[in-house]
Amino acid sequence: MSQDKNYVEPVDEDDEEEEEDVSADDLRLMARFLAPFAAPYKTTIAILVVLILTEAALNFSFPLVTQYLIDEGLIKKEWRALLNSLMFMGIAAIAVSGVALLADFVYTRLFADITRDIRQRLFDHVQSMSMPFFHTTPTGTVLSRFSGDLVALEAALVAFVPGFVMPFMEVIYATILMFMFDIWLGLIASLVFPMILWWPRIFARKAFLFAYEKRQTEGRLMTAVQENVSAQPVIKAFGMVGRARLAFAGINGVWVGVARRTNFSSALVERTAQTGLYVIHIAVFALGAYWAFTDRITVGTIIAFEGVFLSMGYALTNVTQYVPTLAQAAGSIRHLDDLLAVKPTMVDAPDAGTLAPFEREIVFDNVAFSYPGSSFRTEQLAVTVPKGSFLGIVGPSGSGKSTFLNLLMRFYDPVEGRVTIDGTDIRTVTQASLRAQMAVVFQESFLFNTSIAENIRMAYPDATMEDIIAAAKQAEVHDFIAALPQGYDTTVGERGGQLSGGQRQRVAIARALVRNPAVLILDEATSALDAETESKLNETLRRIAETRTVVSVTHRLGSVVTADRIIVLDHGHIAETGTHDELLRAGGLYATMWSRQQSARKAVAAVEDDEDDE
Ligand code: ADP
Repeated sequence: MSQDKNYVEPVDEDDEEEEEDVSADDLRLMARFLAPFAAPYKTTIAILVVLILTEAALNFSFPLVTQYLIDEGLIKKEWRALLNSLMFMGIAAIAVSGVALLADFVYTRLFADITRDIRQRLFDHVQSMSMPFFHTTPTGTVLSRFSGDLVALEAALVAFVPGFVMPFMEVIYATILMFMFDIWLGLIASLVFPMILWWPRIFARKAFLFAYEKRQTEGRLMTAVQENVSAQPVIKAFGMVGRARLAFAGINGVWVGVARRTNFSSALVERTAQTGLYVIHIAVFALGAYWAFTDRITVGTIIAFEGVFLSMGYALTNVTQYVPTLAQAAGSIRHLDDLLAVKPTMVDAPDAGTLAPFEREIVFDNVAFSYPGSSFRTEQLAVTVPKGSFLGIVGPSGSGKSTFLNLLMRFYDPVEGRVTIDGTDIRTVTQASLRAQMAVVFQESFLFNTSIAENIRMAYPDATMEDIIAAAKQAEVHDFIAALPQGYDTTVGERGGQLSGGQRQRVAIARALVRNPAVLILDEATSALDAETESKLNETLRRIAETRTVVSVTHRLGSVVTADRIIVLDHGHIAETGTHDELLRAGGLYATMWSRQQSARKAVAAVEDDEDDE
């Protein structure tokens, strides 16, 4: 059913399933997630592997030389053996440092590249999402994927070589060496594996789970902050500071519990590992010392063994210290994977063609629609908009006016019926080619934080300065811009915050006009303007409407008096249609709304007159 198509599974939040073996699952997910991002760097990875193996081989030789140096050089007082071993150690130390440095250089670059690629992929993915996604996903959730999750993943990637691969190699060659030195000592020392790896796992599993929960809570915190910052005017005006603070403190209070649990279980992982290491160390050292004392093994062996054991223990602890970082990253990768798994709902059909230039008419063919999870339903929308006509859509708020535009721009698909342009169902053409013929002025005229000229040019990158000025003139905003010290180069601030609502709106109208669209869509486009500017602009829009098709949604009936046709919506249905005069004569909903707005306007005018008289 096409209704399902519009449905977006909100990314997030509380649907975590407790799994038996989280760590194994997460590692598999991590590998699956990272593989495609690592694939383009095969050569770099191969070079890195060679460097790491070389480093490991050089490290492997040190304990053997130590044993030789003590037994042959020191105990037997062989000058040559001593000298040779020291020389070898010196050269090997320089070589190992050089190789390690090179490896550092390679892996730091590699993981920065991979992180950049993941970030870009994430951004592209968010960009590719359809409008329903943005209606259902809190902004904070998306932001926290880029901040928290990506940061956690990068931390794990950067620490992967020094925190995991190198220690892992060290553990392997240390184990081989220990068994070479003495099988029995090697066997006892091997007890360190369960002590360090298995025992702390009990806590590690918890750490994995908690980390995921922590990231989720942080996502909710982000959402709360984001909402709070953008709602400041409302919060201040209604004296909601205290309540907002309490609500935030609530989520922050949840976070503190989760954070304590997460961090403590991470600490426990490390602590238990270290305790295990101490216990085995004492046992091995005591037995080795006794055997050296009774001449079962040489002094060189026990000293070299001791060195190997300690560095292996250190490496194992390193690995366990990496576990919390890995846990954080695993939780984050789940989040990233969840987000990347959301498919855009409004995809072009595989055989979608390009919409031919608009020639005749736009038709709403018995369209019915409802938002997923909302009780609002609009139906029996049968509307024909001939090319070059001016269609006004009016109605009380919540009657479905913007929804009509959502369907026209194909932000959503109808549940029943179809929307056609010159007989072509808009679902069968690419969204890009559909929207290329349209320009919209939204009620919220979103401007980007760049110059006014750029904001206008955005809709039509080929626009010349003359085009931009012509559009600004049409939008009744040129005089204002020209009077600014920096004119068209004035930066408008974040979300256009340095302009007034009306100025923003007029820049947005210029932006739509510069595109020279076949269909101009106005969604309460003049609502932020004062009466005088509005009437001037309405004049402009009427002129524009003579040469192109205009669909204007508004609750201000004054904006559509000259429309060729007005549709009056009520509760999602078309209540009446006709011209302004016809609708007034009919004496229905439109006539009621008109007389109400007229008397309100008269009242305002009377007050203004009184003020003028004083
Ligand atoms: P109008 O533009 O006439 O004020 P809308 O078309 O914006 O009305 O909204 C019509 C109804 O649809 C309202 O009841 C509104 O709550 C609901 N609605 C609008 N957008 C969405 C959405 N994205 N998801 C769910 N319900 C929505």
